[in-house]
Amino acid sequence: MPRRYVTDAIVLSRFDLGEADRVLTLITPEHGKLKAIAKGVRRPTSRLGGSLEPFAELNVALARGRTFDVVTEVRVGHAWLGLRDDLESAATAWYIGELADRSLEERHEAHALYALLRRAFELLDAGMAPGRVARWYEMHLADELGQRPEVDRCVECDRMLEASEAFRWVPPLGGVVCGRCPGPPADRTSLSLDALKLLKAYQRLDIEALAALRLPEGTEREVEGAMRDFMRIALERDPRSLAFLDEVRSHPAHARAPGPAGA
Ligand SMILES: [Zn+2]
Repeated sequence: MPRRYVTDAIVLSRFDLGEADRVLTLITPEHGKLKAIAKGVRRPTSRLGGSLEPFAELNVALARGRTFDVVTEVRVGHAWLGLRDDLESAATAWYIGELADRSLEERHEAHALYALLRRAFELLDAGMAPGRVARWYEMHLADELGQRPEVDRCVECDRMLEASEAFRWVPPLGGVVCGRCPGPPADRTSLSLDALKLLKAYQRLDIEALAALRLPEGTEREVEGAMRDFMRIALERDPRSLAFLDEVRSHPAHARAPGPAGA
């Protein structure tokens, strides 16, 4: 890699360092995830100033450093301001960004994941229902990670699932277990036919078709729970930003926090 390089980047998270610096975790297409330092960025006179915000596509010039690469110039490509106007969209963007962060190793190319994240932010910015964007993103992220949930065949016996049987959702096994196979008790893992159909839709339908679906609230909730469980297993932990997202959704009129603690 050259001493100085320029790349598209999205800020995934950041923390303050020293008196005026900030360390950023960036996702870039070619260099994947990397940490960079923006020196003096918290001073009012900083040239880099407010442009290094999360949920924007930036064009960043970086110089190779010993511990962190150093941000030398920033240009905002897409600010996606509409995404910030709605608190649930912003909270969903934190969640989506955190999933990307946890999925990536540093300094491995991430073209597909970058494109996926970028598209999710565009959709949030365009006003698509945040829950739909999040489910679409989770499903495609799992695919990119080589962990596409199995929703067509039983993960135990490989038989095609039939609409008339009882299904169980078992993320540690990678998807749906049929009614005939032994498995965990159905009281905790049962999955309705409508939820199964919606999971399939998230794998198969394009974004316009997904945005247009009319669904009962209960089915959306069921699929949300199913995909949360799946992502927790895939990433081996609960995303920190989920608590913030749940808080925003339970008190939409009161939440004022700018992001999850420490982000
Ligand atoms: Zn089976």
